[in-house]
Amino acid sequence: MLNKKSVDDINVKGLKVLVRCDFNVPMVDGKITDENRLVAALPTIKKLIADGGKIILCSHMGKPKGEPKPELSLAPVAARLSELLGQEVKFAADATVVGENAKAAVEAMKDGEVVLLENTRYRKEETKNGEEFSKELASLCDVFVNDAFGTAHRAHCSNVGVTEYVDTAAVGYLMQKEIDFLGNAVNNPERPFVAILGGSKVSSKISVIENLLEKVDTLIIGGGMAYTFAKALGGNVGNSLLEEDYCEYALNMLKKAEEKGVKLLLPKDNVIADDFSNDANTKIVATGEIPEGWEGLDIGPETAKLYAETVKTAKTVVWNGPMGCFEMPNFAAGTEAVAKALAETDAVTIIGGGDSAAAVNQLGYGDKMTHISTGGGASLEFLEGKELPGVAAANDK
Ligand code: AMP
Repeated sequence: MLNKKSVDDINVKGLKVLVRCDFNVPMVDGKITDENRLVAALPTIKKLIADGGKIILCSHMGKPKGEPKPELSLAPVAARLSELLGQEVKFAADATVVGENAKAAVEAMKDGEVVLLENTRYRKEETKNGEEFSKELASLCDVFVNDAFGTAHRAHCSNVGVTEYVDTAAVGYLMQKEIDFLGNAVNNPERPFVAILGGSKVSSKISVIENLLEKVDTLIIGGGMAYTFAKALGGNVGNSLLEEDYCEYALNMLKKAEEKGVKLLLPKDNVIADDFSNDANTKIVATGEIPEGWEGLDIGPETAKLYAETVKTAKTVVWNGPMGCFEMPNFAAGTEAVAKALAETDAVTIIGGGDSAAAVNQLGYGDKMTHISTGGGASLEFLEGKELPGVAAANDK
């Protein structure tokens, strides 16, 4: 069980605290178009202010590829954060991130004040976890706090390298929440534990399937990856998404599930289309009976019903990946049915980032879920059972 030191376990009174946040917000013409990530960061920042720390915030935004790009400056974030916090967030506009402005601003800070550094990816070394930039970041602070789960599966200077040069590295509330929910759901679930996996490819979810087969009572498979299973079982899948190379693997997984006593559910029927388009002609056919020239783009109604009923029996549900091409309304019914079942159950429901999180939010079920992970790649690696560098780098309690 992960037991990391959090902002509740440290005393920052009078200390300089560098906080790695996820301020990677979408921007159009210098305006923030979705401020959810800023709002989500406030509890940790407010806690550190209330405790009398000197708060130095840092984050990446977009992909400036190691050089200053004015359109990816964090200046607008400082302005909006000032409004949200109701106190000034001083922006240190250094092209080198830790430059003269940052040093002077930090030097002048009083307890409870907040400074924001420039986009950490203005520096080439950031994504390479280079020593020099890690040391420069560490030189600004006494204590480090990581609250950026979205980058926790990467070892960069601002979330991993820096921790080597500070005495204390703790996690913030957002990070703690992700560790608690994802960690508990996977390693200490209330049973029955049902996992639902969808999305496009078996190949990208192999490690997740393998890890979850060790943990769950039922594994539900949907989305494009189901057709590789159908083909492996001797069915016709027409032009559906297929990874021939993974048919044998699919059979091995079915065998493994049987040996472990895990129920592995595959679609019984599918919505098929004669073109990859929302306007295509559609039919519902049994799995393995897709004619040439047609492709499966969603689970069928009978499958949706079965999956929804299975969700109802669970005490813990983890979901990653849509059941079909939900971006096209005519192939969204399966994903919607699963989302609705999760919204209606009293079970602990965890949505593992990316497309499933987007689908749940789009459908208006976001507030009905126990936890929606903020990190697509990071939550997938968590579900794979991997140790995330950004989590591992924080001190244990
Ligand atoms: P992933 O990133 O692997 O979770 O895949 C998400 C993508 O899988 C979404 O963009 C879906 O449109 C796509 N997808 C889901 N089901 C299918 C399918 N039956 N055929 C093709 N793509 C699919």
